[in-house]
Amino acid sequence: MIEPLAFFQQQLEARKAAHLFRERTPLENTRGVRIRIDGKDFLSFCTNDYLGLASHPRVIKALQEGAERWGVGSGASALVSGYTSAHAELEKAFANFLQRDRAVFFSNGFMANIGVINALLQTKQAVLFQDKMNHASLLDAGKLSPALVKRYSHLNMHHLERQLQHYPAPLRIIATESIFSMTGDCAPLSHLVKLAKRHSALLMVDDAHGIGYLGANGKGCTEVFELNQTDVPLLVCPLGKAFGCYGAIVAGPHALLEMLVQYARSYIYTTALPPALAEAALSSLQLVQAEPKRREYLQSVIHYFKREAKARHLNILPSSSAIQPVFIGDEEKAVQIADRLFRDNILVKALRYPTVPKQKAVIRITLSAQHTDQDIERLVTLLESLHVTT
Ligand SMILES: *Cc1c(COP(=O)(O)O)cnc(C)c1O
Repeated sequence: MIEPLAFFQQQLEARKAAHLFRERTPLENTRGVRIRIDGKDFLSFCTNDYLGLASHPRVIKALQEGAERWGVGSGASALVSGYTSAHAELEKAFANFLQRDRAVFFSNGFMANIGVINALLQTKQAVLFQDKMNHASLLDAGKLSPALVKRYSHLNMHHLERQLQHYPAPLRIIATESIFSMTGDCAPLSHLVKLAKRHSALLMVDDAHGIGYLGANGKGCTEVFELNQTDVPLLVCPLGKAFGCYGAIVAGPHALLEMLVQYARSYIYTTALPPALAEAALSSLQLVQAEPKRREYLQSVIHYFKREAKARHLNILPSSSAIQPVFIGDEEKAVQIADRLFRDNILVKALRYPTVPKQKAVIRITLSAQHTDQDIERLVTLLESLHVTT
């Protein structure tokens, strides 16, 4: 019998040997993409704070004033006494913004996905269809639910349709990300809407990487694809990314949202978010609505990066989003490249198994409205010198 501690020690050693060991980097200062690590200035290409709103003075002030008015913690779960008029106002504002009947403010995107799927799929007579590349929170939501889970190949609508034909059930959900967080590519949402309607399934879209910066008004993927509440009845919008805050909004028809308030355990059995955070998120939403310049500038950063990366033959994956992965393949090589960039004061992360499949490691570049053309130049020049080309 091997001792438990020795067992885990071995597991960690094996992870290191396979170049899959993860390390956290403590930042000493974060103002958007300009950060400090170990007393040195770094340029970050890993933040999901796409618009730089996490450090916007108005958002900071809303959080400060909110804390003065409400205190820090909410003190209880939403169904007990943690729900305030600040939460209610935020939910209303998001329901209006997204043109949905109603919205509910969850603790975060992970808990929203767990909550939605488990509140709605409470029986074995249900089926959940998932894109194979879906976020860990959607996959784990499926593991917790008694429903049968079927995973279709990434973006493969024929595969999904075959599964829909083979697995009938009174209740079915198709869950997908809009912009995929590992690859930056986009789900064929119009096609998904058609399949969902044809097969009477509910479509659930996690718009973590679209909400706030995609679409003329920043309403995310449903604006780009012109999809209303009937098309996408379950819309999940984490606020830790383009909104620069924390928490997640789930928006949709009254009946579905009421099901969440009644049955989503990850909503019911957790302390409600601090009211001050709801105030901060509201001010962030107001900025998104009033100031399109940030998302317009971000689009120009994305175009510039793609043009420069292609001119240097960098092996970028097909993506038009702010997530621009550079394909490396070998895990050890990906780590070496990230280390090499780190020595030049650039922070990027090597995504490796199990986040992506084995031998499919990538350097994930995340672009932000805070990057300048010079920042992009610096990055692509270095990547070119490291021969990460096709
Ligand atoms: C980040 C992310 C989440 C989790 O959201 P949090 O609010 O950070 O918990 C869920 N889904 C996707 C696709 C994400 O990228």
